[in-house]
Amino acid sequence: MLQLVYISSAQMPIGNIGDVLLSSRRNNTRDQITGLLYADQGRFLQALEGPEDAVDATFQRIRQDDRHFGVVVLSRRTVDVREFGEWAMAHRSPGQAVEPFLARVERLVSKSDPVVAATFTGLVRHRTAA
Ligand code: FAD
Repeated sequence: MLQLVYISSAQMPIGNIGDVLLSSRRNNTRDQITGLLYADQGRFLQALEGPEDAVDATFQRIRQDDRHFGVVVLSRRTVDVREFGEWAMAHRSPGQAVEPFLARVERLVSKSDPVVAATFTGLVRHRTAA
C-alpha cells in the first residue's frame, strides 16, 4: 500500500477544522485510508496510508482545497503494513499544554518509520517552542 506524507500552510484564519475532520473520517473510512493529521493554527502535516489509487485520489482533493496552500509532498513510499494504525487527528489549540500534546503525538507515530516519526515530532517541537 501507499504511504504519502505532506506538509502545508493553513489559510488564516483556518476556519472550521471540524469540517475537515468530519469529511476526512467519513471518506477515509469508505476508502480504507488511515494515517495521521497534525494541525495547529498555521500548519498541517498529514500522513495518508491505504490502497494506492485511493490515496492518490484523496490527495488530489486535498491539494486543491483552498483551506490551505503551499502543499509539499515530503515522502511517498510503499509500505507493507500500516504504520499509523487507525486514522487519527492531533489538533493543537492555542494555549493547550505542550508536553501532554507532544507525548500523544509521540505515541501516534511510535510504529512509523523513524524518519517519518521525526518529521512529526520535530515539527511539533518546533511549533510549540516558546
Ligand atoms: P464534503 O465532505 O461534503 O465537504 C465537507 C465540508 O467541507 C463542506 O461544508 C464543504 O463546504 C467544505 N469544503 C469542501 N471542500 C472545500 C474547499 N475546497 N474549501 C472550503 N471548504 C470546503 N478529505 C478526505 O477525504 N480525507 C482526508 O484525509 C482529508 N484531509 C484533509 C486535510 C487538510 C489539511 C484539508 C485542508 C482537507 C482535508 N480533506 C480530507 C478535505 C478535502 O480537501 C476535501 O474537502 C474533501 O475530501 C471533500 O470531501 P467531500 O467531497 O465528501 O465533501
